[in-house]
Amino acid sequence: MPLRERKHPLTGGFTVHPLYDQRRYLIPFRSSLLPQIFTDTLVIGGGCAGLRAAIEAAGDPDSDSPGDVILLTKGPFDATNTAWAQGGIAGVLRDDDSFDAHAKDTAEAGAGLCDENAVRLIVREGADRLRELIEWKIRFDRDEQSGRLLTGREGGHHANRVYHAHGDATGRELERVLLERARANPRIRIFENCFSLDLITPSRQSASPVRGAITHHPKHGLQMIWARTTILASGGAGILYRETTNPKGATADGLAMAYRAGATIADLAFIQFHPTTLYLPGAHRALISEAVRGEGGILLDAAEQRFMPEVHEMAELAPRDVVSRAIVRRITQQGGAHVWLDCRNIKNFAKRFPGINALLHRFGIDPAKDLIPVHPAAHYAVGGVRTDEHGRTDVPGLLAAGEIACTGLHGANRLASNSLLEGLVMGKRAGRFAKQRAAENGSSTPRPAQVVSDIRPSDHGEIDLVDIRSSLRSAMWRNVGIERTGPKMRDTKEMFDFWGRYTLDKIFDDPEAWETQNLLTVGALVARAAAWREESRGCHTRLDFTEPRPEFEVHDLWKRGKDSPDTVTKDALFMQDQ
Ligand SMILES: Cc1cc2nc3c(=O)[nH]c(=O)nc-3n(C[C@H](O)[C@H](O)[C@H](O)COP(=O)(O)OP(=O)(O)OC[C@H]3O[C@@H](n4cnc5c(N)ncnc54)[C@H](O)[C@@H]3O)c2cc1C
Repeated sequence: MPLRERKHPLTGGFTVHPLYDQRRYLIPFRSSLLPQIFTDTLVIGGGCAGLRAAIEAAGDPDSDSPGDVILLTKGPFDATNTAWAQGGIAGVLRDDDSFDAHAKDTAEAGAGLCDENAVRLIVREGADRLRELIEWKIRFDRDEQSGRLLTGREGGHHANRVYHAHGDATGRELERVLLERARANPRIRIFENCFSLDLITPSRQSASPVRGAITHHPKHGLQMIWARTTILASGGAGILYRETTNPKGATADGLAMAYRAGATIADLAFIQFHPTTLYLPGAHRALISEAVRGEGGILLDAAEQRFMPEVHEMAELAPRDVVSRAIVRRITQQGGAHVWLDCRNIKNFAKRFPGINALLHRFGIDPAKDLIPVHPAAHYAVGGVRTDEHGRTDVPGLLAAGEIACTGLHGANRLASNSLLEGLVMGKRAGRFAKQRAAENGSSTPRPAQVVSDIRPSDHGEIDLVDIRSSLRSAMWRNVGIERTGPKMRDTKEMFDFWGRYTLDKIFDDPEAWETQNLLTVGALVARAAAWREESRGCHTRLDFTEPRPEFEVHDLWKRGKDSPDTVTKDALFMQDQ
């Protein structure tokens, strides 16, 4: 298929308001007046993708080749999406499974939009990354007698291929193993609590290369970090929604930064909602892993009747969008605020799911005896910064990996447990590419440039940012949530444009405010992308366009300075030419 992007007939006039494009940087600064730090590779993010990228970019500490890496995280390592992952990592290690079968399940979940090349490559290399983790002494669960690795099954998988650790704490164990390895490598400097505000593009011309980032640290203030290659691995965007499984740092900063720097963002309409999160007023929407349904947990409606078998042949293990929609529809029909998850038939629940068991007991729920109130919540950003097989974006010097990136692996919906896998495979690939770039440049250090960001102070009055953030999250949940309609998304777009006029023109000096500006920018793009996609596909459900439409079997691409999306046919996404 041709790689060229083409204009898609715009449906509904969802042009991008110029206010989202007027600012190149969030704050005013003069680079020459700030402390300057230099590195070969800057990695923004300390989840599975960022850590795996840093390990690869640094390489062997005893070799002569350049491999100096700085890795930033804005929050603690135990508050990444990675550390919160429960179910496991999908991969083909068993003789009774095959790459083709894993690829087929991935493509089926992706509803016609998966890029075959991406699927094939990530599924294959995923097996290598799993073997590598075992070599690095990850404590995957094993059968006590035989010592064989245990595998679970999750929604959309037709084979047992999900590797897990400590029952339901796979992410914590993965983060531990990768972090230990990164910390043991003296070439990797880790800056914790260091907030990246913006990617630096010294030249004002479009497609000007990224040369690092401007960051803020509570003790050191603003700093310029200059790098030959910058790898964005800043994770997801769940905080866009009032109901989410994500930790509070998932505020879409990377997407907003990449957009401001001129990178192409793809497929933002596709936000995956997880069907089963604990629904108790006042409690965080803690995930009740899909693996629980894999072990036999069933969903019951308000009348305590099972309803999934009549909805889908895989019943409770149907793809997530199917289960989430079925729950919402049941609640709408019957009233109430949640359905029930019945785990009373799962033997050894406490042993298999110790974390979930402890959480439920904290709220006085005993899964061996009680039904668990559950409701869907925003879980995973399927779209993201468009990347190729090396993690390259269309902005030179900028790579992306993990949840922030859009390789095309997930198409229109992610298969359960494929994201840790993607983060590991693409993190390594991006790290390798960055290392090669460093080697090509020998031992010379990257040079600083003069960057001046002048921003006029706002004419508008003070605002309550907490209120903006909570209104934005509620609007996204109500209007750009599990079931969507054109008029509601149009309202949301208009609201965001209005709030943006007096929020995006301000100069703030703390991370929460910058996060809110990022959320507003990305929320506005998600609402537009969802309104533009006049069809239902994967995890994007429109009540006014209930079927997939062939003219939308394309990726939609959004870019600063363009007021409407371009589109590209599916396999062109992963194999972009540079
Ligand atoms: C509750 C839960 C359960 C899940 N279970 C599974 C599962 O079982 N299997 C599976 O495959 N997937 C699962 N997922 C999805 C998966 O965990 C994520 O997609 C994946 O971990 C993302 O990894 P990442 O490295 O891209 O980002 P993350 O792990 O989220 O890391 C992002 C990093 O970026 C940093 N960062 C963000 N913004 C900035 C900034 N402005 N400046 C500096 N640093 C910044 C953060 O501090 C963090 O270090 C789950 C997700 C959740 C929330």
